[in-house]
Amino acid sequence: MGRRGRQRREHAGDRGTAPAATADSRGWRIAIVALGGVALSMAAFAGWRALAGRPPHRDPGLSVLLITIDTLRADALGAYGRAGAETPWIDRLAAAGVRFERAHAHNVITLPSHANLLSGQYPFRHGVRDNSGFRFPAGTPTLATLLKANGWRTGAFVSAFPLESRFGLGAGFEVYDDHLGGAQEHTAFLVPERRGPVTVEAALRWLGEHRGERTFGFVHLYEPHFPYDPPEPFASRFRSEPYHGEVAAADAALEPLLRPLLEAGEHGGTLVVLTADHGEALGEHGELTHGVFAYEGTLRVPLIFFAPRLWSPSTVGAPVRHVDVLPTVLDTLGLAVPPELPGRSLLSIMEHGGQGGEPRSYFEALSSSLNQGWAPLHGLLDGSLKYVDLPIPELYDLEADPGETRNLVAARGQDLERLRGLLATQLSQDPGAVRVKEDPATLEKLHALGYLAGGAAATKQRYTAEDDPKRLIDVDTRTRDVIRLYREGDIEGALALCRENIRQRPGMPLAYLHLAYLERARGNIGGAVVAAHKAFELRPLDAESVSLYAVYLTEAGRAKEAAEVLAPYMTAAQPDLDVLTARGMALASLGRREEALETFQRARATDPANARVLVNIGTVYLMAGDVAHARQAFEAALDVDPGVARAHNSLGVIAAREGRTDEAIERWRRAVALDPRDYQTLFNLGVTLRKAGREAEARPYLESYLKAAPPALEGRDIARVRTWLRTGD
Ligand SMILES: [Zn+2]
Repeated sequence: MGRRGRQRREHAGDRGTAPAATADSRGWRIAIVALGGVALSMAAFAGWRALAGRPPHRDPGLSVLLITIDTLRADALGAYGRAGAETPWIDRLAAAGVRFERAHAHNVITLPSHANLLSGQYPFRHGVRDNSGFRFPAGTPTLATLLKANGWRTGAFVSAFPLESRFGLGAGFEVYDDHLGGAQEHTAFLVPERRGPVTVEAALRWLGEHRGERTFGFVHLYEPHFPYDPPEPFASRFRSEPYHGEVAAADAALEPLLRPLLEAGEHGGTLVVLTADHGEALGEHGELTHGVFAYEGTLRVPLIFFAPRLWSPSTVGAPVRHVDVLPTVLDTLGLAVPPELPGRSLLSIMEHGGQGGEPRSYFEALSSSLNQGWAPLHGLLDGSLKYVDLPIPELYDLEADPGETRNLVAARGQDLERLRGLLATQLSQDPGAVRVKEDPATLEKLHALGYLAGGAAATKQRYTAEDDPKRLIDVDTRTRDVIRLYREGDIEGALALCRENIRQRPGMPLAYLHLAYLERARGNIGGAVVAAHKAFELRPLDAESVSLYAVYLTEAGRAKEAAEVLAPYMTAAQPDLDVLTARGMALASLGRREEALETFQRARATDPANARVLVNIGTVYLMAGDVAHARQAFEAALDVDPGVARAHNSLGVIAAREGRTDEAIERWRRAVALDPRDYQTLFNLGVTLRKAGREAEARPYLESYLKAAPPALEGRDIARVRTWLRTGD
């Protein structure tokens, strides 16, 4: 390691291609020394030594570690001024690195923001505008593809569904570990995620395998994302501020990654970049989480560059942006920065103490527009001015008014017009947020079937003040409450709020998706079909809507209709994964096994490492009685991701059917350990133990079953289990 480190240093020195400014300043100081001759003062000498010993600012030998913490407000960190924050590891990183005080994201949700970071492009260029319905375009260069092409080993370790490889950010990564355990299904209310320590452990294992090589590791943690449910000891310590407990948990999860790098100091060979994809509003401006507005609570992010062998610790006050990250990393490694990128390297800003930043930054928040039909939000930062382009426009001076409480639209008409013009120029490059690029044959079929009566261009309408998210934020708050009540088990309460939202603002596809989900949760599958159909009607090109509608049709015993609804989408070159899965399920329940499997194989081809698809394939085989193939598929799923509880459960079912009770029990125990709320496994395990005469062992599982099982779907079994537990009979 030592030898390697030295070689790298010499190599960097040989290049001598430090920025002109550095070379100049070094030459200038040496000239003074030469002029001073024998009369050289001690002070000047000391100064010369300090400069001569000053490390170079570029180093092609560095490894790169990009850490993104989802939903992390800059001011939630101790390093950014929060008193009482428990973020010692990030704070140490900031103290030993270059901390950017005014860094901004361009999007306020996960997938687009990571696409910006990894590609160095604005969202209107790469085209990813929301978490669902978009796929990062293949062939677009990213930090991963560029570094891989230059010899770095590349590995990504992500913690939540929006970054699964199916959305296209995996290009260039030799390893793209998005194994979220598969314990949870992705639903309207639940985004599969894995805990930070598990993600970090996977990253460390990979880094260990590539010790001595140059690596680009990308680690994404999801802890601070709603719902806030921090683990101990943070749950107790942050009882009244669970969001900050999650932030502390994320920081603690990073310790094994950061500690060795911090301890190595100047001898370390890794450039660490730490940032967030966006922040969290925490109630500011009426917004609870993130995604609707673009105020500073969600748009401003922490940004830290750490490479002590290159840079002394400092704080930079100049405004910087996510699109600057990729050029800075490439520049630091001595690689050429593609000239067409909107960002620029921050190296000279770091050297000159924060002068010369590019003050302009584009931003947007389009989710509410795409999912609810509200007015789209675009905006521009220009120095301390921030312009938000909405039916009710907003203009703030962040320096004088960091809380964005005084709208200057009326007071500063000239600035307003200037920023409007600049934003319009920027957006003239925007082809529009096109959710699904369906192929012409699909569109034609959808038109013929009457699904696209309004036309795909229906989004090009005029928005009024009534569509401004500022007027609609209470609808968003109610949506959060719908999710909260559902999670607390109050389905009726959640339904009432959901209906209230639809009454206030009809025509929101997302609200109908929630309604459909809630109806199903309370056992009203007919109602679920009606609600999902409404979402589908409102947004026929949206994969989530059409696939949910089809899945519920199948569950309602109308698989034939489901297969027909999905047929037009099958002509696309690459149909959506959810659409393929829904179609496979419909065909399977129609007994069209071969077609079902063919469909699942297509799904598998779109995302080969997706364990959920493999579990679905296994389930179709199992339903058809083909145990050998079922077993193969479930085992393949576990090869991809050993944490898939459903695969263990199904293998347990196979073992039980074949009379291998001990193996079945073992499988189910493992499944329950992975997903303690899966009521089906709890039922299998409890009932089997009880039948085997192991009553005492069975009891806790059956009690957990009673807590987890939805009464509407499991009424009869719940009653039976209750009787057993009460009477022991
Ligand atoms: Zn996010």
